[in-house]
Amino acid sequence: MENEPSSEIARAALGVRNLHKSFGSLHVLKGVSLTAREGDVISMIGSSGSGKSTLLRCINLLEIPTSGDIFVGGEQIRMQVNRHGVPVPADRRQVDRIRTRLGMVFQHFNLWTHMSVLDNVMEAPVHVLRVPRKEARERGMAYLEKVGIADRSHYYPAQLSGGQQQRAAIARALAMEPRALLFDEPTSALDPELVGEVLSVLQELAREGRTMILATHEMSFARDVSSQVIFLDAGVIEEQGPPGEVFTCPRSERCKQFLSRFF
Ligand code: ADP
Ligand code: MG
Repeated sequence: MENEPSSEIARAALGVRNLHKSFGSLHVLKGVSLTAREGDVISMIGSSGSGKSTLLRCINLLEIPTSGDIFVGGEQIRMQVNRHGVPVPADRRQVDRIRTRLGMVFQHFNLWTHMSVLDNVMEAPVHVLRVPRKEARERGMAYLEKVGIADRSHYYPAQLSGGQQQRAAIARALAMEPRALLFDEPTSALDPELVGEVLSVLQELAREGRTMILATHEMSFARDVSSQVIFLDAGVIEEQGPPGEVFTCPRSERCKQFLSRFF
């Protein structure tokens, strides 16, 4: 039944089922499952080292899961075992296709430093999606406008504040018009006074009904904006539910302890 194409996970915007990831003998993800429906905002919270980044990186195959299933827009990523007995994606083109459907925003922005902000935003649409430059430029400017830095389009990343750089990185992800956005602690590298400008962009994206999965330590954001909160602890989902439940009456003792550090 679980493998029926009509199952909920196959109809979701994004889904992960029983995902495991080990690095050598270190078992980091221990059977994680989650389903993001269209428009869901899932906040992943948990201590450093609990596996949040690894989970996000597995979803877009920056890391190859040891086992488990990943679905993006109803399409399951096909895996096979290579001659060393290691699981690898069965179809490189499928991986490329899936990656274009997922926008990823990293803690440290990861902008190309030798390119202007606009060129950063245009790069993948032009070279991956083969969008004509003129159209990519117009679209890129519209996304820079949306994140409030259109007036910085010709600056290099180093000439921008951290908050502006992260907003540029968000515009770059949006320019691919992805099915879902993955954010790995998008405000953790920012000076405190710059966190708000990035969170308001995220809030706006959530309001537009974009499907988003974030690893974050911004608890009030997670509480106010998410449709679902996941508490990851040592590679296991210890607690999961609407923010009203997770933040007010967590069942798990580990989750209570974790939250008591913030509230
Ligand atoms: P979080 O993002 O929640 O802080 P991570 O997913 O970064 O957690 O890390 C989870 C665990 O996996 C940590 O013990 C980390 O050291 C380990 N880990 C992450 N990436 C690698 C890697 N490429 N090689 C070996 N160990 C890794
Ligand atoms: Mg991390």
